[in-house]
Amino acid sequence: MNAIVVFIDQLNAPGTLSGTTLQLLTAARGAGEPVAVVAGPVEPLVLAELGSYGVSRVLNSEQAELGEYLIAPKADLVAQAAATVSASAVLVENSAAGKEIAARVGVMLHAGVITDAVALTHDGGSLVAQKSVLAGSWTTEARATSAVTVVSVKAHSVEATPAPVPSVAEVEGVEVAFAPASLGARVVSRTPRPASGRPELDDARIVVAGGRGLDGDFTPVEELADVLGAAVGASRAATDAGWISHTSQVGQTGKTVSPQLYISVGISGAIQQKAGMQTSQVIVAINKDSESPVFEIADFGIVGDLFQVLPQAVAEIKRRRAES
Ligand code: FAD
Repeated sequence: MNAIVVFIDQLNAPGTLSGTTLQLLTAARGAGEPVAVVAGPVEPLVLAELGSYGVSRVLNSEQAELGEYLIAPKADLVAQAAATVSASAVLVENSAAGKEIAARVGVMLHAGVITDAVALTHDGGSLVAQKSVLAGSWTTEARATSAVTVVSVKAHSVEATPAPVPSVAEVEGVEVAFAPASLGARVVSRTPRPASGRPELDDARIVVAGGRGLDGDFTPVEELADVLGAAVGASRAATDAGWISHTSQVGQTGKTVSPQLYISVGISGAIQQKAGMQTSQVIVAINKDSESPVFEIADFGIVGDLFQVLPQAVAEIKRRRAES
């Protein structure tokens, strides 16, 4: 059966598999035999969870270079592991790091690279990736003509589902031969970002994003995000104004998100903003201008002043929670 490699980074969060990783494992299982390639330690709980997602083969490396340098050594690990198992495909997260790994692995394996995939299917033994393009108005299919295909898959495109029959996962250590020139920039120190208590934007099931309409006060957006257990996103107008960190920016020059629910608040819906959120499963827009372009892609629209709409929504959600 086709080996489909899924890259898993355990260096910064050992002991847990992210929701995005479980989605990739589910997608890999649908396309062939999932093989996990892990940077960092594989703890017993992680090994058991990999088995429950149908993984029987785990290749890992704990070499220091993987943590001390940026992306390049991880790409070396993935390429060498993929060659070892004669993988027909490599799946990575659709984050900036995942896409850079995809590009480097593509060069090393002479493989076609497909980014921003929203679904994977099979056609006569070859992997077909679906992409949502032109502000979500078209779905295209892409297929590599090379022996190996590298695909970065958007978060929440696939629902994470354990295998009907779990596997017994076994770990094989991999000794990666790093070429010094390939290691790239070395990390000399790390400063952990203060925890917000909210989910990560790239990984969140629900995102509440605010724009210029907030006029500098993100409190209503944060309150709605907190009652929904959502991440907070923003338009570039809001991040450029310094109202919220640039790491929260969604769009062409920010993050690409694809949550189950995206609530757009006081954002006009410029094409560069849509580029980062148009594949969200359900889009709710709150804007006081009924002609705002965001309503063209919204599943539900509320025309009104956000400073009145959001507090009412928060109060109603809290009231219903209290009742149930
Ligand atoms: P505006 O366009 O000013 O819209 C504000 C909206 O708030 C309006 O629709 C208004 O009706 C509404 N509003 C105002 N007050 C209220 C209220 N009280 N209640 C309800 N609604 C209210 N933008 C991004 O977002 N992400 C990107 O990654 C990005 N990359 C870019 C890259 C390039 C190369 C360029 C040129 C631009 C990029 N932009 C990006 C900018 C983009 O073109 C828009 O300028 C930006 O998205 C506008 O942000 P906004 O919708 O918050 O502001």
